[in-house]
Amino acid sequence: MPDTTTPYDAIIVGGSFAGLSAGLQLARARRRILVIDEGSRRNRFSSHSHGFLGQDGREPAAIVAEAKAQLLAYPTVTWREGRASEARAEADGFSIADGDGGRHQARRLLLATGLRDELPEISGLRERWGRSVLHCPYCHGYELGGGRLGVLASGTHSAQKAALVADWGEVTLFLNGEPEPDTEQLALLARREVALERTRLAGIEGQGEAMSGIRLADGRLVPLKALFATGRVCPASPIAAELGCELEDMPFGVIVRADEWKRTSVPGVFVAGDVAVARHSIASAVADGATAAVGLHQSLL
Ligand SMILES: Cc1cc2nc3c(=O)[nH]c(=O)nc-3n(C[C@H](O)[C@H](O)[C@H](O)COP(=O)(O)OP(=O)(O)OC[C@H]3O[C@@H](n4cnc5c(N)ncnc54)[C@H](O)[C@@H]3O)c2cc1C
Repeated sequence: MPDTTTPYDAIIVGGSFAGLSAGLQLARARRRILVIDEGSRRNRFSSHSHGFLGQDGREPAAIVAEAKAQLLAYPTVTWREGRASEARAEADGFSIADGDGGRHQARRLLLATGLRDELPEISGLRERWGRSVLHCPYCHGYELGGGRLGVLASGTHSAQKAALVADWGEVTLFLNGEPEPDTEQLALLARREVALERTRLAGIEGQGEAMSGIRLADGRLVPLKALFATGRVCPASPIAAELGCELEDMPFGVIVRADEWKRTSVPGVFVAGDVAVARHSIASAVADGATAAVGLHQSLL
């Protein structure tokens, strides 16, 4: 019979790449853990995932399903589907509600809840997210096979991104009302043969998920295979903020501040994955989850 009275050693909120990786380390340390996950991974819009060692080109859902099956083979792991909420600090740890009206206790909390993308409001963009509107050239640039690519500016860092994307094709940087690049950035863009378009976007055109080009406000059509666009990001769950964890403003949005062992500013609360790192990839999330688990485990001794 599973023990339902003793608090778990840790509750992990978020059972995707970071949460699964953390769970595996803690399960292998023979710790009792509960994973609560509502299954809305950030890359659920993409059919294939790239750049993660040993899994290149696989469906993201298949990678997660295999990792989950391996984790659940450990007897000290409990898994609940649903949205965790109402986390509270208590005398000996924390309690948190699952989506079914249950409340669970643990000595430590590990938040691996990921980020939510707040996409730019441009006609035709949302329905192509993860298909021909992309967030990261390392993840999906190679498969485009060169050709005309766009980068949609979302701040002063976008000139650097356009210069980077030039390794994957012929790039146009669409300012769409964002500030003009400075002299140094203009020199970099020229060196990388990036074209600059200052006219605002009217919308994205193409059949289905594919893109034929960008329609500009003055009526011109700029033919494109794909557009790299990032809006702002924010934590997908408010739990860290509700518990009082310090947040950190980054050029691309907000993440949760953590130290090298992934301890947040609230003792006993750890964080891992996209919500806690500046570089967003499966490899980073998996590494971060493993680091957080070791930090959390050592804090239990
Ligand atoms: C369109 C797109 C394509 C991408 N393609 C690639 C790629 O090809 N290769 C690559 O390396 N990276 C890719 N990425 C980046 C990758 O998706 C992220 O880096 C990775 O998913 C981060 O993992 P994570 O575990 O931190 O968060 P996520 O994978 O986002 O998982 C967070 C989990 O926590 C759950 N959760 C959140 N709040 C709660 C709550 N309150 N209660 C319960 N559960 C909760 C969510 O439902 C989700 O299951 C892509 C990203 C996007 C947006």
